Amino acid sequence: MDINNKVIVITGAARGLGYAMAEHLAEKGAKIALVDIDFDSVDHAASTITDAKGYACNVTNEADVEQLFQQIKADFSRIDGLVNNAGILKDGLLIKYKDGEMRKMSLEQFQSVIDVNLSGVFLCGREAASHMVQSDKGGVIVNISSISRAGNFGQTNYSAAKAGVVAMTTAWAQELARFNIRTGAIAPGFIATEMTAQMPQKAYDQAAQMSPLKRMGTPQEIAQAVSFIFENDFISGRVIEVDGGTRI
Ligand code: NAD
Repeated sequence: MDINNKVIVITGAARGLGYAMAEHLAEKGAKIALVDIDFDSVDHAASTITDAKGYACNVTNEADVEQLFQQIKADFSRIDGLVNNAGILKDGLLIKYKDGEMRKMSLEQFQSVIDVNLSGVFLCGREAASHMVQSDKGGVIVNISSISRAGNFGQTNYSAAKAGVVAMTTAWAQELARFNIRTGAIAPGFIATEMTAQMPQKAYDQAAQMSPLKRMGTPQEIAQAVSFIFENDFISGRVIEVDGGTRI
């Protein structure tokens, strides 16, 4: 796909990886719909990018997501691409047993991460695909997974969601190819954003050292991989690992 003049929706775009993607794709001439639950930040983020508009939406709310895509279609007259990037962390152990005391991960802690990182991807992917099919111009959907999709200590909820995201990417590639819609996923390693800044300093330093390159990745390096999926017309249904060679 030639990105120039295409309309691309990016969720979780108020900061971090989503904002870097918005900047990068806009530099290539795309018109960007930045979506985030944090309206003030997304509005400000959109104001710093040419031909962009900010939208407040919680990607877990079905009616709001339906309305969001209708509004973006009305504002930009087309939707050519989607990056499902919004995500949260609520790390914890499945069970914690110490001194005879058992503590369990609550269903709420599990479900809230599934809601944003998996159901949100499903809802936005479904709405974007239905608009792309109706316009009969094809499109590209990129889902942001994670190195944690392999299963990571303390991340039952997050790992399950991020593995599911890759599975949906493959399923959609098969179902949507006849409408000229391609899909792709990125599995970032540890990238320097507000999300990883929440990690304790020791864990942050260890994460950086896990890469043979001995550093965190940059948001721009992930944005570059996203545009590669948009631009390469023979990529579909696959996950690209952008993790500096890290294995967890
Ligand atoms: P971040 O926390 O800096 O930004 C995430 C954005 O998503 C925020 O602006 C937040 O407001 C928004 N958001 C959260 N819940 C939302 C909801 N319900 N609806 C709409 N927007 C919502 O995170 P980031 O580091 O930029 O990560 C972006 C994506 O990349 C996430 O899916 C994350 O899981 C994934 N990822 C990040 C890393 C990393 O090291 N930073 C590694 C692997 C994968």
